[in-house]
Amino acid sequence: MKMSELLAPTLREVPAEAEIPSHQLLLRAGYMRKVAGGLYTYLPLGLKVLQKIEAIVREEMNRAGAQELLMPIMQPKEIWEQTGRWDLYGEEMFRLVDRHSREFCLGPTHEELITQTVAQEVRSYRQLPLNLYQIQNKYRDEIRPRFGLMRSREFVMKDGYSFDRTEEGLEEVYRLMYKAYERIFARCGLKTRPVEADSGAIGGNASHEFMALAQTGEAEIVFCEACDYAANVEQAECVAGEKEANEKSQPLQKVQTPGKHTVDEVATFLGVRPQQLIKTMIYLADDKPIGVLVRGDHEVNEFKVANLTGATTLTLADPKTIVEVTGAPVGFAGPVGLAKKIPLYVDHAVMAVAGGVVGANSPDAHLINLDPQRDLVPLGAQAHDLRLAKAGDPCPRCSEGKLSLVRGIEVGQVFKLGTKYSEALGAVYLDEEGKSQPMVMGCYGIGVSRTMAAAIEQNFDEYGIIWPLSIAPYQVMIVPVNWRDEESRAESQRLYAQLQEPGVEVLLDDRDERPGVKFKDADLLGIPLRITIGPKTLAQGAVEVKPRKEGVFELIPKERAAAWIENWLGEAGA
Ligand SMILES: [Zn+2]
Repeated sequence: MKMSELLAPTLREVPAEAEIPSHQLLLRAGYMRKVAGGLYTYLPLGLKVLQKIEAIVREEMNRAGAQELLMPIMQPKEIWEQTGRWDLYGEEMFRLVDRHSREFCLGPTHEELITQTVAQEVRSYRQLPLNLYQIQNKYRDEIRPRFGLMRSREFVMKDGYSFDRTEEGLEEVYRLMYKAYERIFARCGLKTRPVEADSGAIGGNASHEFMALAQTGEAEIVFCEACDYAANVEQAECVAGEKEANEKSQPLQKVQTPGKHTVDEVATFLGVRPQQLIKTMIYLADDKPIGVLVRGDHEVNEFKVANLTGATTLTLADPKTIVEVTGAPVGFAGPVGLAKKIPLYVDHAVMAVAGGVVGANSPDAHLINLDPQRDLVPLGAQAHDLRLAKAGDPCPRCSEGKLSLVRGIEVGQVFKLGTKYSEALGAVYLDEEGKSQPMVMGCYGIGVSRTMAAAIEQNFDEYGIIWPLSIAPYQVMIVPVNWRDEESRAESQRLYAQLQEPGVEVLLDDRDERPGVKFKDADLLGIPLRITIGPKTLAQGAVEVKPRKEGVFELIPKERAAAWIENWLGEAGA
């Protein structure tokens, strides 16, 4: 392709609306343009990248035995009502009505439709297992679309669904998909980490997310420095911790702490460590007040509290409710006396505290010398894992490791669905005894357009994108320094034709622009290998090669240039 003919309008300025590198660079380098909030047109270069990622996804899915199909974007309301998700999805779902007043949605996902399809076509155990996937646009009415392709309203996904006779069958296909995902992201040049997306409490790992590690990621991940353990911070397990050295327990004592609300204020005032403080957080669980106890240096993990209590909504109580429930303003709540009024849930690290300090449920007062075994157990305290993991925590899996915290972008997820959808939509088969059984399902998603953005978040510098070779829109860019120089032009065109012969994807900058403009654009576009040809290089009978990533120049005799480039591409894995 010749640059003079390519629609790749580059921008010198960073567009104001773009906050993160992938969004800025995709706009600046002319890969895409915004249509409306969260809606983009892929210009030719952007579409090429997207198609390359799709091709890798297809190859690996097919290799793993999955079959591709294509379902409509528009889906009838009725099947969503059968699973109860028409209402559950709420405002995130785009809904529309046709001229006959029938209601539809723009698919945010396709579990309902695929399950219905399989329910209608599969009758016998002989037709199972099945593993089906599609690469299709998805729609979510994000409240605030942002970060370009990271959180858009229309996006490209690969969504796959497996149907098995047994849990063992599901286990097997789950492992296959997990392996396929590792290959897909590695081939796309992404550094990813599979993390447990479920607490793992029930029957092992029901779900894994594949996180591309990046500063700009929206998710926080903890991982062990010594073993394979990794999890979303919300789902990370926390160990109880050693019981603190047990001095002889002193009796509970009420002390005045005037105006001391925060952990640090109280700890400093009383001359104790923050770890000795025990916070009593008042929440409304489905509008009923509950108390959650965590150590002063820990934070409540609301996800775990919701799981434990079964609450669908969990919000911190407002100051007025706190006064009503505890008799004291915010900062002075405590378990003693409170257990009679509301349910109390205690994080297990609290039980190991010695010489604890808690609020006294009266203004400006705390209780000191709290011994959880003595003072909380009689209140019916049951310890659970209820706090958020943090950097430096001991690993829940191995004894020696400590947890580190990183940010990541979710680019894929594999999920064991079980029989939830097959039961709701009647996806049953007749087993060998002629008995009707629900199919056991799994689902497997990859954010294809998001993978494109994640690849940039991991591969860029101050000058532009640095595409991994496997998904770069072109592999090689030839930059003649002066297009008007006849010898440079002839040599460039010769090499361009020579490289196209074996199928090298090559871009020729045939524009009559200043060298500075061309070099800036070449760096911005991020093509993996740049070939510079000009009077200076030709005077030495050579062309100059510069891999975008390493940035190291090298002169190669012009007769050997094509062979050198093909060899370089081969070694780089093209
Ligand atoms: Zn570990």
